[in-house]
Amino acid sequence: MNDAQGYLNPQRTVAELKELRALTGDEDGAQRVAFTETWSKAREWMARKMAALPVESHKDAAGNSWFTLKGASEKSLLIGGHIDSVPNGGWLDGCLNVMAGVEVMRRICAEYDGLPPVTVRVVDWADEEGARFGKSLFGSAAFSGNLDLDEARVLKDKDGISLPDAVAAHGIDFEKVKDAGVEVADAAAYLELHIEQGPVLLDMGLPLGAVLGTFGVERHAITFRGQAAHSGSTPMNRRKDAFLAAARMAPEIYEITGRNGGVCTIGSCITKPGIVTSVVADCRITLDQRHLNADSLATMLAEAKSASGRYAKDAGVTVEWERLWQIEPVLFNTELIDFCDAAILETCGVSHRLPSGPLHDAAEVARAGIPTVMMFVQSLHGISHNKIEDTLEEHLELSVRALDRLASKTMKWISNQLPHL
Ligand SMILES: [Zn+2]
Repeated sequence: MNDAQGYLNPQRTVAELKELRALTGDEDGAQRVAFTETWSKAREWMARKMAALPVESHKDAAGNSWFTLKGASEKSLLIGGHIDSVPNGGWLDGCLNVMAGVEVMRRICAEYDGLPPVTVRVVDWADEEGARFGKSLFGSAAFSGNLDLDEARVLKDKDGISLPDAVAAHGIDFEKVKDAGVEVADAAAYLELHIEQGPVLLDMGLPLGAVLGTFGVERHAITFRGQAAHSGSTPMNRRKDAFLAAARMAPEIYEITGRNGGVCTIGSCITKPGIVTSVVADCRITLDQRHLNADSLATMLAEAKSASGRYAKDAGVTVEWERLWQIEPVLFNTELIDFCDAAILETCGVSHRLPSGPLHDAAEVARAGIPTVMMFVQSLHGISHNKIEDTLEEHLELSVRALDRLASKTMKWISNQLPHL
């Protein structure tokens, strides 16, 4: 441990996460759904923690909560996360990120006596999860300029309350949320610690990993169309069976990922007429394909299209594709990935680089052109968005230490880019 890390108290982060769990959770898990009272209570609790430090705090036009320690330079290191959770969520998803940021902020305040060489900011993004309106990354997408206002304006929750009304109840003018873009000024780097939410680090027996970027996604509906026919009177060789073609696609997605890497999922299958006595006339499946490399993702899509055409022909049916959603892969900054790797190696002697399957606020920050990296800490059971979500406390403490080292390396990197007078 170096001297600076003597100011750091990772056990305090674990204790504070338990405090937050007691304050905003119940027997079903975390209940900090964005734009609710419990969410506000969690944010006020976090603001009280920050009030002990010499930091300026404000909410931007999208409701993102900023805590700024002014440095000798305006150029800023950003450390972010989200205190909002899904309903019945886990105790770590999102809040570990911000509470580790609070602890790193405490260390920097103490080490530099309130005036670090560069400005340091902790941000709690508003509504990362999108649990209430089905739209993830609200605050960070407003910040990056990628939020589609027309799409968000008409969203309603299950009680019929519109997103603009819900945010208004929290002091946010929906039509002005993109003014949050002013916060991009002077941002020189962004760091985000997160639980992995998957089993990769667990299976490798590693506490921490450096994240290369977030997967690009291609999401399509594929509809095979054949002909309904009596299940008793139609000989097997006379059928136009839409289900047969769709079913043959299922093993194909394993071949495609075997050749290209990435992941593919057929998540839904609807047959019509959908009765026991008819050959399937229409079969609609959904295909979700993800890869970190844009070219590989394009290849995966092309291979799936060509396979669907082949199986349609074999079954005597037709096939149509409809794109449901798509996003490019977001690659993190290579220098920051190196720093992240080094910080992990210094902290626990072994590191691993891995992509992120889920999207995170960090992807939006990177899309805003700010050099970005994420660090993952192992998830027990490889499970998240569930009250059983958990991470060993010793791993949580290591993650705070490693994030702190990464923050130091990144501050130095930002300083070195400053013009020397
Ligand atoms: Zn999260």
